[in-house]
Amino acid sequence: MKMSKMFFTTMKETPSDAEITSHILMMRAGLIKKTASGIYNYMPLGLKTIKKIENIVREEMNRAGGQEILCSAIIPSELIEESGRWSLYGDEMFRLKDRHSRDFCLGPTHEEVFTDIIRNEIKTYKQLPINIYQIQTKYRDERRPRFGIMRAREFVMKDAYSFDRDFEGQDSSFQNMYDAYNKIFERCGLEFKAVEADSGAIGGVGSVEFMVKSEVGEDAVVFCSNCDYGANLEKAQAIVQEHIGEDKKIIEKIHTPAIRSIEELCDFFSCDGAKFAKTLIYKADDKTVAVILRGDREANEIKIKNAIGTVIDFDMADEETVKAVTGAPVGFAGPVGIKTDILLIDQEIANGFNFITGANEEDYHIANVNYPEDFDGVVGDFRNVEEGEACPVCGSPITIARGIEVGHIFKLGTRYSEAMNCNFTDENGKINPMVMGCYGIGITRTIAAIIEQYNDEFGIKWPRQIAPFEIAVVPVMTKDEDQLKAAEKIYTQLMDLGYDVILDDRNERAGVKFKDIDLIGIPVRITIGKKLKEGKVELKLRTESESTDITLDELYPKIE
Ligand code: ATP
Ligand code: MG
Ligand code: MG
Ligand code: MG
Repeated sequence: MKMSKMFFTTMKETPSDAEITSHILMMRAGLIKKTASGIYNYMPLGLKTIKKIENIVREEMNRAGGQEILCSAIIPSELIEESGRWSLYGDEMFRLKDRHSRDFCLGPTHEEVFTDIIRNEIKTYKQLPINIYQIQTKYRDERRPRFGIMRAREFVMKDAYSFDRDFEGQDSSFQNMYDAYNKIFERCGLEFKAVEADSGAIGGVGSVEFMVKSEVGEDAVVFCSNCDYGANLEKAQAIVQEHIGEDKKIIEKIHTPAIRSIEELCDFFSCDGAKFAKTLIYKADDKTVAVILRGDREANEIKIKNAIGTVIDFDMADEETVKAVTGAPVGFAGPVGIKTDILLIDQEIANGFNFITGANEEDYHIANVNYPEDFDGVVGDFRNVEEGEACPVCGSPITIARGIEVGHIFKLGTRYSEAMNCNFTDENGKINPMVMGCYGIGITRTIAAIIEQYNDEFGIKWPRQIAPFEIAVVPVMTKDEDQLKAAEKIYTQLMDLGYDVILDDRNERAGVKFKDIDLIGIPVRITIGKKLKEGKVELKLRTESESTDITLDELYPKIE
C-alpha cells in the first residue's frame, strides 16, 4: 500500500466524546468513524486489524476442531420464543417487523439459530460431538453504549456452539474451547486472566470469562496474589449460606439425591412437569436471588421481581445442574455456585413440605423448618468480598482489579436442547437431548482492549501480529529521486518476502510522516534519508525511542 493513495485521515485533537485511550486513539488514527451512538464504521486500517484478529481466532478455532458457518443476523421471533428468550431479552434486543407484520430481531447472540440447525441435521450419536462457529455482526441495544467499539450497539463477535451426547462430552468440549481461548488471547499479545463467572465454583466451573486487565474495564475481578484463582467480583460475592441453628429442632431430614433433570425435580415434588417448563433464575436486585416460574408464562413475567416463596437448597449441585433443572437463561446473573444454590420456589408447590432447606450435607435436605426462626444466617445476603481477604483456594490475600470482558464461555447443559427438542438417538435407540456449550469472543472489543494495553503518548503500539501494517518504509524527501527509488525497492522486496508493508510516499515533511506512523502504531519504521549515500538506512522500532543506522544487508535479518 502506498500512503499517498491510502484512504485515511489522522487528527491531532482529542475527539470530544471519547473518554478512554483506545476510543481516542481509534478516532485519532482514523480506524473508525461514528454514524450514531454505539454505531461505527471501520476504515481500511481498522478493518485490517479486525481481519488480523479474526484470522487468529479462525486458526485456533479450526485447530480446535471448530467448523465455520455463517448465519443470518435476522432471526424470526418464533425461533427465539422456543427458548423463552423473546420475552426475557427485553429492551437490549433490536426488534423489527417485516411487511407482513411478522416479528424478527437482529441477533444479539445465536443459541436458538444454531440449535435449530443442529436439530434438523444431526440425528444420531455417530454425528456427535460437533462444534460450529461463526464470525458475525451482533446487535444489542445497550442501555449505555460507550467507549467507542468497546460497548457498541453493533459489534463483531465470534460465537461457537458445541453439541455433545452427555455431560462428560460437554466438559471436554468446554475444556477444548478454554484452551483455544487461552491461545487466542496469548497470540493477541494480551495480558489477561480467565476467571470464574460463578461464585467461586472451583472444579465445577460452568462459565468462565476472559478478562483483560485494564483500569477502564467495566467489570471488577478478584485475583489471588499467589495462586491462579480469579473470579468476577459479582460472582465472587457468594450468597451467605443459610445455616440451621444448632439448637433448633430438625423435624425431618430427607434424602434427596442429586436432582439431574426437570423430570427428577418433578418426581421429587410430585408435581406436573409442565409447571417447570418455563423457568428462570433471576436477580432483580441484591436481595432477590432466584425464582422458579410456573408454566403459565404470561401471568409470571412481572411477578418475579419481588418473588416470595420457599427456599430450597440444591446443596452440592453445580451451576450447570441448576441451570439444566431450571432452564436459567444464558448470562443470568444469579449468584449460584457450588453448595450455595438457592432457589425460591412457588409456595404452592412446596406446601407439602412446609419449608425445605439444605442440610449442608450432600444429597440431603431438611424439611419442615421455620423461616427465619430456625436459621442463623440470612438467606439472600451477599458476602462483601474485600481486598486482602483470603483466597478460597490457597488463603493468600486477594486483590481486586478492573477488567475488560473479551471472551465468555458457558456450559449450557440441556437448557436449549430440551426446550427446542434438539435430540439424538444413542446406541440403544434411546432419544436424548444434546448437551451444549456456547463460546463468545468480542472481536471488535478485543481490538479496543489491545490498544488499552499497547499505547503511549504518541499513539498506538500494535503488537506486530495485529498491526494493520507491520512495516512502514519512509523516504525522508519524496522529491529526492534516489531516496524514493531506494524506498520503493525496499518496499517491493519486503512485500515479496511476505511482509505487510506500507510506503509513505506522501510529499510531506518527515516529521509529519513519523507522527502519523507512530499514531497509527506501525511496529517497524525504515527511514531512507541522507545516509543512503553511505548505503545506510535508519531502523526504528515503535517500542524503542532510539533508532539505528544499518546497511541494507543488515536490515533484513533485523526485521524478521
Ligand atoms: P458485557 O458484560 O460487557 O455486557 P456480555 O456478558 O453481555 O458483555 P456476552 O453475551 O458474554 O457479553 O458476549 C460475548 C462477548 O461479546 C463478550 O465477552 C464481549 O467480548 C462481547 N460483547 C458483548 N457485548 C458487547 C458490546 N456491546 N460491544 C462490543 N462487544 C461486546
Ligand atoms: Mg451485556
Ligand atoms: Mg458480562
Ligand atoms: Mg458475558
